[in-house]
Amino acid sequence: MSEYAAGPVAALRRIAFLLERAREDTRRIQAFRSAAAVILPLDDDEVAQRAGNGTLTDLPGIGPSTAAVIADACRGELPERLARLEAEHSGPLAKGGRALRALLRGDCHSHSDWSDGGSPIEEMAMTAMELGHDYLVLTDHSPRLKVARGLSAERLARQLGVVEAINDHLGGDFTLLKGIEVDILDDGSLDQTEEMLAQLDLRVASVHSKLGMDADAMTERMIGAVRNPRTNVLGHCTGRLVTGNRGVRKQSEFDARAVFEACRDNHTAVEINSRPERRDPPTRLLELARDIGCLFSIDSDAHAPGQLDMLDYGCERAEEAGIEPERIINTWPRERLLEWAQHG
Ligand SMILES: [Zn+2]
Ligand SMILES: [Zn+2]
Repeated sequence: MSEYAAGPVAALRRIAFLLERAREDTRRIQAFRSAAAVILPLDDDEVAQRAGNGTLTDLPGIGPSTAAVIADACRGELPERLARLEAEHSGPLAKGGRALRALLRGDCHSHSDWSDGGSPIEEMAMTAMELGHDYLVLTDHSPRLKVARGLSAERLARQLGVVEAINDHLGGDFTLLKGIEVDILDDGSLDQTEEMLAQLDLRVASVHSKLGMDADAMTERMIGAVRNPRTNVLGHCTGRLVTGNRGVRKQSEFDARAVFEACRDNHTAVEINSRPERRDPPTRLLELARDIGCLFSIDSDAHAPGQLDMLDYGCERAEEAGIEPERIINTWPRERLLEWAQHG
């Protein structure tokens, strides 16, 4: 048995992280995150004592498998479950894109449990820090996306206060940035008040509804959003799903040349969405945006902490497409990114 000094909370978090990045069933993963939350406020001595006398499972939310992890970690031994996951799942997620991945300084698209993510804001921020990011932009959904518990102006205002409080506590070089994934409405306008949009550091605009509208209307709709001076990143432009438990969905139809030219001319970056079920834009469109001269943002679109590591997939695709790092906004220093996001 190898030694392990990081303690039970770290062991449980690490297991959850490795399972999330391997896209395992989220309910199974939640058991580890919940167990970490249960023991976090407890005294170390109490946890060790319970591990010793076998009463960990008396705590609500601790079952046999999480108790075994906690008990091993309390004894200073690497939990077997964690050892197995480290051996199987801790390597890079993609073969290519390693050099580019090393150049990324942060992530412009992520969700917390304020909308349809699975973890609290602080857990997302802490994991981004652990990945070595300089920043993470928190981009929960906008009001109209009710299925994803999109944030009203009031809830977003409250969230901005939470982001500030988290930053006050974090210290170091990491910053959690204020953002949104704002729905692009049918007429191309954005689904949040101008007053709130103005308070954010960066805004991703995405189409989530009526993906099947006719190509002319969709083109006009997307260009409307891309031209909006508040829009910084065009999220998952085709809306397609290529794999995964939500099934497949074909890409929406629009004049990609016209949309990407508008992106270039209005300083809106085209997102390379790293989620394996999206792989958006498709390669042909990625190459078109490259040839047109667009900027790009390689985003995780993480809905759980471990998914923040999915940037590996986007980097592999960007490298395959031969996109220069200089054109990828999240290779830039944070100050340059913020300046660009305010002024284009
Ligand atoms: Zn989205
Ligand atoms: Zn998203």
